[in-house]
Amino acid sequence: MKVTILGSGTGWPRRERGAPGYLVETAQEKILLDFGPGTIVRLLQVEVSISEIDFIFLSHFHPDHVTDLIPFLFATRYQLGYQRREPFKIFAGEGFHNFHQALKQAFGHWVEPPTGMMKVLELSTQYPSAFLEPPLEIRSAPVVHNPESLAYRLEHQGKSLVYSGDTDYTPNLVELAEEADLLIIECSAPEGRKVSGHLTPSLAGRIAGEARVKRLVLSHLYPPCDEADLITPCRRYYDGEIIIAEDFMTLTL
Ligand SMILES: [Zn+2]
Ligand SMILES: [Zn+2]
Repeated sequence: MKVTILGSGTGWPRRERGAPGYLVETAQEKILLDFGPGTIVRLLQVEVSISEIDFIFLSHFHPDHVTDLIPFLFATRYQLGYQRREPFKIFAGEGFHNFHQALKQAFGHWVEPPTGMMKVLELSTQYPSAFLEPPLEIRSAPVVHNPESLAYRLEHQGKSLVYSGDTDYTPNLVELAEEADLLIIECSAPEGRKVSGHLTPSLAGRIAGEARVKRLVLSHLYPPCDEADLITPCRRYYDGEIIIAEDFMTLTL
């Protein structure tokens, strides 16, 4: 799997760090983890067309994680551009159908893809889920942020990638991330400035350490994180490789 960080930022708009969006590529599939504002433009910058997106995993419905879904759905209606024939699939926590319904109330049928083009799988927000989506093995687990919040684990050819979405400390994420090759974890606030429902570097390190992950990426970085030392507090709990996310960074696993 190849991971491209499209947006290492948050809900606070910045030129340096786009809103959350991660591209995961296998030999055949193109997968998006979250779909924050600006993700489409960044996909185009790495020369990926929205026609190529097979799977979209949404962590939760905060605007910084989902709003490029609106232009994406609208664009699927442009027959000269959107050439895809097989359906794309959206995975999200319970409530996605209501969320899409509300978008349709606002935008009408303009956010409805051509018939049969969009498949949706709502996953439990109470319990972990596990299923096959060949060639991927997928697991999800509820995390502590919004009622619909999920973290995801993608396995492909013996390699595993875990994405936390937004969350506070939770044993669910430790369990989901157990011995993962790569954990992309939110780290919204620097040490000493914790915000409820989010992590600090030490808590991110604790999760990575308890889960014994092989590599850790700190992402979802608000501006104060860029002026702080994130590594030292994280290192207290985790002795593996720690990477501070940057937009357009690629990681191979
Ligand atoms: Zn967020
Ligand atoms: Zn959020």
